[in-house]
Amino acid sequence: MLLTCPFCGLRDHAEYEYGGDAGARMMPADGAPAAGWIDHVYLRDNPRGAHAELWFHAAGCQQWLRVVRDTFDNRVLDSRPAAERLGDGNGISA
Ligand SMILES: [Zn+2]
Repeated sequence: MLLTCPFCGLRDHAEYEYGGDAGARMMPADGAPAAGWIDHVYLRDNPRGAHAELWFHAAGCQQWLRVVRDTFDNRVLDSRPAAERLGDGNGISA
């Protein structure tokens, strides 16, 4: 699988570390019930198709990226610095 880094260009995925779901829920408030924490820490969607994810370019520029990847065929649909929000047009907002 290849990922395009907005700073370094097209690179093999082995240069990156997966950072998880970019659309992860907000952390529960202090004192929230255990069920809220279990949901936050362990439960994730497992979509088929476009999915917003965080990737860290560990062997490159060492920047966090926000990537939209098609989980069916691993095509990268969008890649940008993590500080930028994903825009319209890809069906993903995160
Ligand atoms: Zn990079």
